[in-house]
Amino acid sequence: MSDSSAGTRATDAVETPARSADVELAVDGLVKRFGGIVAVDGASFEVESGSMTGLIGPNGAGKSTTFNCITGIHDPDAGTVRFQGRDITGIDPHECADYGLVRTFQIAREMANMTILENLMLPAKEQAGEALWRSVMPVARRGVERQERELLERVWETLEFFEIEHIADAKAGTLSGGQRKLLELARALMTEPEMLLLDEPFAGVNPTLERKLLEHIHDLRADGYTFLIVEHDMDLIMEHCEHVIVMHQGSVLAEGTPDAITSNERVIEAYLGGEV
Ligand code: ADP
Ligand code: MG
Repeated sequence: MSDSSAGTRATDAVETPARSADVELAVDGLVKRFGGIVAVDGASFEVESGSMTGLIGPNGAGKSTTFNCITGIHDPDAGTVRFQGRDITGIDPHECADYGLVRTFQIAREMANMTILENLMLPAKEQAGEALWRSVMPVARRGVERQERELLERVWETLEFFEIEHIADAKAGTLSGGQRKLLELARALMTEPEMLLLDEPFAGVNPTLERKLLEHIHDLRADGYTFLIVEHDMDLIMEHCEHVIVMHQGSVLAEGTPDAITSNERVIEAYLGGEV
């Protein structure tokens, strides 16, 4: 229950408290159509630097499509995306990662046959750039070897952080659902991002691993990373995010603190789907 000790006014959740702190990500009037379907219909919101922000909404609300438009997987039909003040609308995913904004990806089939170590090396190498691979000059190669060594160190640090170093040589395909989610997050971190978009990171994860994953996310957040998380478990979002954005039918229905969102009638109505 809200005790509102610090004089927080429980006003309409749409009127967010002044969010004058640094804006990490700003989405404005985003539109994405698939044929006749308007998947995202003028979505606008901001994510504060260093925050853990939740993005919720009923199935089909446009959350995943929004993520895809932000990170360059889809080209939006209208609207703008700004990351750290830079207009990144319509850039390709690699460029987006270069700027420090990544979303997690499911481990693709071809990756399932690679070891966990290889799975982590790959995105880091891609990030290190073409030069690492294309260089044939002996002088350049020395630099490459050093880079490779540094890379491997970084991979091991990440494996240790996620406590999966003991299974570094296991094939990704043999992992449990929860371990796979850890690997997905670890992979995303290898590109040295500043902001992470997580789309249902806890789906199919057992409670023990979920707790672990959440601990890691909180640790990373304490290190300054910004998180935007899509998750259908409302209780989890309400407990772990300080700001919540609610999407419905492609646009933002409400946003605010968990308390304000939980008691917002439009949100409750959207979730009940107008029934009863
Ligand atoms: P959410 O992640 O909130 O469940 P999505 O963004 O996945 O919602 O989907 C929003 C709407 O767009 C849905 O109606 C979905 O069927 C449609 N949609 C999503 N991706 C595609 C696609 N690639 N082609 C056609 N329709 C799509
Ligand atoms: Mg989705």
